[in-house]
Amino acid sequence: MAQREQIRTGERGVLAHFGHMDEEPMTITEGDGAYVRTDDDEEYLDFTSQLYCVNAGHSNDAITDAMAEQLDRIQYVSSAKDNDARSQLADTLTEVAPQPLTDVFFSISGSESNEAAIQIAREFQDASTVLTRWRSYHGGTYATAGITGDPAIRLPVESHAATTGNVKFLPPFGGADAAFDADSPEELTERSLAHLEYVIRNQGPDSIAALVTEIVGGSSGAFTAPPGYFEGVRELCDEYDILLIADEVITGFGRCGEWFGSQTEGIEPDMITFAKGVTSAYAPLAGVLMRSELGTALREDAMDIGQTFAGNPVACAAGNAALEEYDDHLIDNVRELSPALEERVRSLADHDVVCDVRGRGFHWAVEFADPETGELVFDPRVEDGYNPVADVLTRTREKGVLVGGGRPLIQIMLSPPFCVDEDDIETGVAALEESIEEVFE
Ligand code: PLP
Repeated sequence: MAQREQIRTGERGVLAHFGHMDEEPMTITEGDGAYVRTDDDEEYLDFTSQLYCVNAGHSNDAITDAMAEQLDRIQYVSSAKDNDARSQLADTLTEVAPQPLTDVFFSISGSESNEAAIQIAREFQDASTVLTRWRSYHGGTYATAGITGDPAIRLPVESHAATTGNVKFLPPFGGADAAFDADSPEELTERSLAHLEYVIRNQGPDSIAALVTEIVGGSSGAFTAPPGYFEGVRELCDEYDILLIADEVITGFGRCGEWFGSQTEGIEPDMITFAKGVTSAYAPLAGVLMRSELGTALREDAMDIGQTFAGNPVACAAGNAALEEYDDHLIDNVRELSPALEERVRSLADHDVVCDVRGRGFHWAVEFADPETGELVFDPRVEDGYNPVADVLTRTREKGVLVGGGRPLIQIMLSPPFCVDEDDIETGVAALEESIEEVFE
């Protein structure tokens, strides 16, 4: 049996994350810009950026050359020592991030960054409760699964209370299962903030260490907050002495048209967690940007946290080169082409089965509901049931375009690399639109 078939049937090989591989897993062997190629020589326009990571596109010479050059000099330096590539990256990160964030703690993955941020917040605040949001995703490790709103991720660890205790959830801003039925964005802001203040007061402000939030929802559905919401959150966090942690694992590094999503909302979080786009996924690297008070506390209290591979020099060299590419032209490309992408994706809302289109910059979700009732088209948790959204994904792929499945799979995610052009945008969205028509109409 071919290895690929054995992997698919689960007999041997790579264990898939999140419990499953695609039904017909493709073997991607090469990439170039916004395109990937498979072992059977098929080419696909990659509108997923491979899990929202490869912002600079595949096979970017500036990044691979910088990595090769670093490998020639030295491949690894312990995180207890200094390293020039690592310091350079920290300098640039603190320049492009919202200004009060002066210190960087490097880690390896987004999950570990969120783990560190929660641990630092709990230690610094001497409080344990973390506020987070339903329909969010913050990671696949124990504690981060516990602050993830997606039940498929959270429920299996929820009974392990020692790792996930003291977490309270806030509602998302929209989608078919929106909690607040507001008549206007302003009313939604008002109601969401009133609800947050109610939770804070009743939970007891002194017991709350931090509020963790994506700025634009990630794989759980590209939710954008109504105008003024995040400013209000910042004010409430100041008033009640709660640390505001922005999980920018997806929204960092230009995906929303600014270096960080927080800047698109005009807010200054106390910590920003980042990963994916920092190296454009040329090497695993992540971290936590934080205010100087927190950095100082970490230095002085010497909280013993860290990981062997955190801030690896080759990964940092990739990060330095990726950040130059973003600065040089890639974030400009996102700004320039976002209106065209937004208009084209929003046009999908003309289809009756599409109940919501939302997002910002180069990160969009298209959610499906029954046109008559507005209810979800199906229950995505029913095992082995036919899922029309999965069918749309497959058909779009058969047309040569990769789009992503959101969690839960009632939505489709579009997050192209920043190197696409207007023709790519049309090709990508048109393939999705045709597939929606085939499946639903
Ligand atoms: N936070 C968000 C918003 C994410 O989208 C992800 C991963 O998709 C993570 C955290 C976890 O990052 P990682 O998979 O690198 O651990």
